[in-house]
Amino acid sequence: MGKYVYDFIEGDRSRADLLGGKGANLAEMTRLGLPVPPGFTVSTDACRAFLATGSPPAGLFEEVNAHLREIEARLDRRLGDPRDPLLLAVRSGGRYSMPGMMETILDIGLNDVTVGGLAARSGDERFAWDSYRRLIQMFGRTVHGVPAEEFEHELAAVRATAGPGGPSAGQLRDLVDTYKKIFVRHVGHDFPQAPHEQLFLAVRAVFESWNSERARIYRRQERIPDDLGTAVNVMAMVFGNLGPDSGTGVAFTRDPATGAPGVYGDYLTDAQGEDVVAGIRNTLPLPELARLDPVSFRRLREIMATLERHYRDLCDIEFTIERGRLWMLQTRVGKRTAAAAFVIAAQLVDEGLITADEALTRVTGAQLAQLMFPAFDLAGAPEPLTVGVGASPGAAVGRVVFDSAAAAAATDPVILVRRETNPDDLPGMIAAAGVLTSRGGKTSHAAVVARGMGRTCVCGAESLDIDAERGEFVVGDRVVRAGDVLSIDGTTGRVWLGAVPVQPSPVARYLAGELSPEADGLVAAVHRLLGHADAVRRLGVRANADTPEDARRARRLGAGGVGLCRTEHMFLGERRELVERLILADGPAEREAALAALLPLQRADFVGILAAMDGLPATIRLLDPPLHEFLPPLAELTARVARAEARGEDPGRDATLLAAVRRMHEANPMLGLRGVRLGLVVPGLFAMQVRAVAEAAAQRIRAGGDPRPEIMVPLVGDVRELAAVRVEVERVLAEVDGAPEIPIGTMIEVPRAALTAGEIAAEAHFFSFGTNDLTQTTWAFSRDDVEGSFFGAYLERGIFPVSPFESIDAKGVGRLIRLAVAEGRAARPELTVGVCGEHGGDPDSVEFFAEAGLDYVSCSPYRVPIARLAAGRAAVAATTGTSDSR
Ligand code: PEP
Ligand code: MG
Repeated sequence: MGKYVYDFIEGDRSRADLLGGKGANLAEMTRLGLPVPPGFTVSTDACRAFLATGSPPAGLFEEVNAHLREIEARLDRRLGDPRDPLLLAVRSGGRYSMPGMMETILDIGLNDVTVGGLAARSGDERFAWDSYRRLIQMFGRTVHGVPAEEFEHELAAVRATAGPGGPSAGQLRDLVDTYKKIFVRHVGHDFPQAPHEQLFLAVRAVFESWNSERARIYRRQERIPDDLGTAVNVMAMVFGNLGPDSGTGVAFTRDPATGAPGVYGDYLTDAQGEDVVAGIRNTLPLPELARLDPVSFRRLREIMATLERHYRDLCDIEFTIERGRLWMLQTRVGKRTAAAAFVIAAQLVDEGLITADEALTRVTGAQLAQLMFPAFDLAGAPEPLTVGVGASPGAAVGRVVFDSAAAAAATDPVILVRRETNPDDLPGMIAAAGVLTSRGGKTSHAAVVARGMGRTCVCGAESLDIDAERGEFVVGDRVVRAGDVLSIDGTTGRVWLGAVPVQPSPVARYLAGELSPEADGLVAAVHRLLGHADAVRRLGVRANADTPEDARRARRLGAGGVGLCRTEHMFLGERRELVERLILADGPAEREAALAALLPLQRADFVGILAAMDGLPATIRLLDPPLHEFLPPLAELTARVARAEARGEDPGRDATLLAAVRRMHEANPMLGLRGVRLGLVVPGLFAMQVRAVAEAAAQRIRAGGDPRPEIMVPLVGDVRELAAVRVEVERVLAEVDGAPEIPIGTMIEVPRAALTAGEIAAEAHFFSFGTNDLTQTTWAFSRDDVEGSFFGAYLERGIFPVSPFESIDAKGVGRLIRLAVAEGRAARPELTVGVCGEHGGDPDSVEFFAEAGLDYVSCSPYRVPIARLAAGRAAVAATTGTSDSR
């Protein structure tokens, strides 16, 4: 028989897995000699055993009884004693806090007899009957699922007829009778009178509450594993509802919103904890307690200081004062806003409570990301028009437009409003300040694309009835027309009619070099913590940048180079026509002419990027996407040709283009003629790009610069592909006068490349994991298709807790990465290894890459600070073996 029950004096906070967070902290406070009512914790082991078999493990209740007897002896009171009954509180408490998700039953031990004892002992008959009705209500609801409203309804009726002092003892006694009848009606038997039976049933009900619908939904959202189970804390009751010298409250040792030191919290006189939640009376700000009960207030402040020093962090506390005596009911390291997290971590370093390394474990990349977005100034903001799903954070204000072309053509900020978006909306989404849709959730096309480009997005605002043809949408009885101004909040999903003022983020301004690090307390804290992250991190952070402007921005944000320059982005706009000429070229002369026209344009792009990254590496990737992406869409061309023919005109170039599009059509372009395959079958294409890189570098050297270009080949699956391209690359490099040594490397973005990394490393100076494609090809997911179709269902059903395109799939894709790193480095010890997929900017993924031994991550410029912080955290975790990302 195992041990399942632990007295508070046996445990400590290191045993939160076994005792739950609440139980472990109650034990810790008991050990510290703080005034905690005596009690014990039934472990999560017992809960897991119960959940596995459907019944409590053998011997559990004997053990509970033994612990109960100890408490009875200590307090010299017994459960069920008709003259002076001990009463118990039963509270759930898992490893991670799940606020409001689980159960509490107070006043266990009251029955028709002991209620008289409580009345006599407290000298307060009303209090005794009120406690009894609370027990029946909480027990009925928690153990038997009796709807709370039935009780609440009767209580409200009694309150309505009561005098100014509240219901009389007689009224409350009658209410208990009514409650008992409600109980019998729903449950089919009388309210149990035996106190021990009440206790055991309550413990059982707490176990069962672990699997309630709302608890499961909450865990899925918060990524808390389903198999942890909850502990149950059983504690002697103390009463905050024994008159004006009693009360209950919550306290924070610092302001959880801003991090400012001080006394924060609420207090309610003559009340029990659930009254605070029920909001029956207004709570008082905690500092008022200094006036009401100076002795308890002073003691509370001492305890707050003790707890902060002990936990070395912001603590939140629940306490009760029973007739002038202060009791601690709970403490934990408190939740806080992102801003408070940074401010508090820096303060605690200054106060000597934590090291700078520890400070990094107290903040997350996700919190930094939150601080970088502008926010609405809500003082004086009107009621929102509607609320949708906050899908991509930010605060956007603009004129309503209903189609992508109008958004793309707009010169002022616009909000693109669509039922849902599809790939054709891309130009409009790029141009818009924000995107608002009436359908789809966090993995809809709109959400995924908007997040990818850092565009504010609210989706699934279902109350919007959009009529794009008429250029209006209706919400309730409001009609909003094209041109009206909307404000949308991508964090909370709120949508307002009209312009709500926006405050730029001071943190973003500091990171962009527009504010000094001393600008305010928050900026100073971010500056210090990021500085420390840079000092300790092993992992380099580069940026994905396609233009000199992007590269400059990335450098300001702390990038140590460009990890991916996608050259296809240089072939858009007016240059598209040159690519068309290349595709349509009839024979080598025409092809070479087209390439020759592209060469100086590419060279100029590279000069700009190499100048922006002077002295730092800049990895330039040779062309990756299928060429037909540069031609007009098939449907559009077909229509143009048909129109011309119908008018009896010669479709001319359109007919040639249409034939080319038909010829190049692929059923699965993602798996078709792209990447290195393109370089091997389109003569001269890669050579032109390589020449442009080499000539740009030579030009920069002549100008006194220090260019460090690297050439990267995409989509390699076999070493022979890379070897063949490399011969050509080296030939071109040798032809360019004054070019520096240029490393040649490859992306690892298909499983075969990872599986044969040892061979490939023989031909590569560096690897860069293209985790976007590697995720697509490992899972056989076409990203463009799956995210908008079934990912919502997959997330809902818990197939994966987060999209593998958002956060790296460490088990599958990660295994390929580890394998390729090991085999690549075995073949070539000096091999540089990085990652340039979207995952390079995801904090959890960055921590994985650090741990997997990569040299750098590369991500979009505005995620660079987030990756720097995550890399610093990973370095600290590697030395201390801790990771605290929750
Ligand atoms: C990748 O596949 O991860 C990558 C960076 O390449 P792209 O996203 O351009 O396909
Ligand atoms: Mg790729």
